[in-house]
Amino acid sequence: MAGRVRCAKYLLSPTAGQRQRLDHLLWMQRNLYNMALNHRRAMWEHGQHASRYDQFALLNNMAGTDLGRYGTCVARGTLTRVDLAFKAFFRRCRAGEAPGYPRFKARWRFNSVSWPDTSGWRLDASAKRFYAMGVGHVKLRLHRPLPGRPKCAHLRREGRRWWVVVVCDQVPAKPLPETGRVVGIDLGVASTLTTSDGTHVANPRPARKAQECLASAQRDLAPKAKGSKARRRAVERVAAHHRKIRNCRADHAHQLSRQLINHYDVVAHEDLRITNMVRSAKGSVDKPGTNVAAKSGLNGSIYDAGWGQLLSFVAYKAEEAGRTTIAVDPRHTSQTCARCGHTEAGNRCRQAVFRCLRCGHQAHADHNAAINILRAGLAQRALREVQKKTA
Ligand SMILES: [Zn+2]
Repeated sequence: MAGRVRCAKYLLSPTAGQRQRLDHLLWMQRNLYNMALNHRRAMWEHGQHASRYDQFALLNNMAGTDLGRYGTCVARGTLTRVDLAFKAFFRRCRAGEAPGYPRFKARWRFNSVSWPDTSGWRLDASAKRFYAMGVGHVKLRLHRPLPGRPKCAHLRREGRRWWVVVVCDQVPAKPLPETGRVVGIDLGVASTLTTSDGTHVANPRPARKAQECLASAQRDLAPKAKGSKARRRAVERVAAHHRKIRNCRADHAHQLSRQLINHYDVVAHEDLRITNMVRSAKGSVDKPGTNVAAKSGLNGSIYDAGWGQLLSFVAYKAEEAGRTTIAVDPRHTSQTCARCGHTEAGNRCRQAVFRCLRCGHQAHADHNAAINILRAGLAQRALREVQKKTA
């Protein structure tokens, strides 16, 4: 049994020589990717289909070539990627969409390779080295041990940095002692989240700072001529800011989810699928999150992605620790009075202020919403238990 699966991402510190070989590895795999794509196109034009395994067979005589230096495993990883691109393409065709045909990869667009199983690479935890065939033993920062049994590996280039992501299975559970506490959380823009206990967690400052830098880098990029070197550099800068925001947000989400899971047995949160559904139908859900983002000139989708990530971290940490998470329908949670239950849009008098038009209850709007989310979550759980008993 494979059990739980987790990834661990480690930063590599390659020597100058190893860096060159890593670049060369990507270069060769990118060529292979484009060659395999071309092969499929040619076959397709003749009404034939090349499968992943047909293409694997093409690797048989690569010994002694530049590509062969890195072994068949990583090359199979690349061919599998071509296969996945085609599978996605055909799936979308069947679904009646008009997808773009899989495209050739430009040099700067090809930034990762994969080893589909445990051959061709090795992570030596005691020596703190990542070995890849043809590249050598690269030093890495082992900031935490592997979470389980290594299954496959991905190598990524992000700007000047190199990372290895090791996918592990058989990750052991780490149950935490019960706390007897439950919480509802409201996700927002001004604050990342507000708990039903009334705690507000602000967005991390570095992310906001990076956001401003990103906007300026994007303005800088716009007028640059297509295909020019200056544009290439400007694109790199924009990508670097995006990376920074992403990393910042991930760090923050890891810390927050860890705190929530350590402190509470049950975490109730809004069901983002419903949030997104309602929002696309109405333009905005009853919480004005996206509008706020638009007003302050920030990109709302960045927040959406951040919420999704946070909740996915909460979910996997909860599963590992034996905690419960409950997704509730978020509609009306921001318009309903947490004290008397009266629901009316006018209750939400300003962005941050909730004042009940019936009983006069006044609270921070997000705090009020978080309490409603907790209640809805607990009701849902109670209902589920009753259903289980009667079934
Ligand atoms: Zn009320």
